[in-house]
Amino acid sequence: MEGSPPLLSPAEADRRLRAAGVRVTAQRRAVYEALAADPLHPTVEAVHSRLKKNWPSLPLPTVYRIVEDLAVAGLIRRVASDGGPQRLDANAERHQHLVCRACGRMEDWTSAGLSGLSLPRSLPDGFSGETYDIRIVGLCRTCSAKAEARGIIPKRRKS
Ligand SMILES: [Zn+2]
Ligand SMILES: [Zn+2]
Repeated sequence: MEGSPPLLSPAEADRRLRAAGVRVTAQRRAVYEALAADPLHPTVEAVHSRLKKNWPSLPLPTVYRIVEDLAVAGLIRRVASDGGPQRLDANAERHQHLVCRACGRMEDWTSAGLSGLSLPRSLPDGFSGETYDIRIVGLCRTCSAKAEARGIIPKRRKS
């Protein structure tokens, strides 16, 4: 899926920041917008370099702190990645991820079936479940084409 993920309206984003006790500033807005503009789950570093043009003096540690504020306010969430740096997600809707194990590309995927699962009522150790996300790990189109060309995986029939 290409294009920008479903986003919160600026008013809703501001409301959530205030509700979490986080002051709305131009910098925080800019970080959120940069994140929201990238559907491929950027790292904090990637967001920082995206912001360089308009915010040349915004230091990386500040971007880290702002990302923390945005996560606390529920505007974004962190997505686990295997060993690599943490990836960020501004898509506010429930969705799953397609993760390429070769290049690390992470795309959103909304599947009615997977997004409609209900959490088990009782979980071990008194754990109270709130949400879930499912990662489907494999090879993206580009990496599977490369692997097919090298004969690492069998050629798929073209549909
Ligand atoms: Zn790939
Ligand atoms: Zn996502």
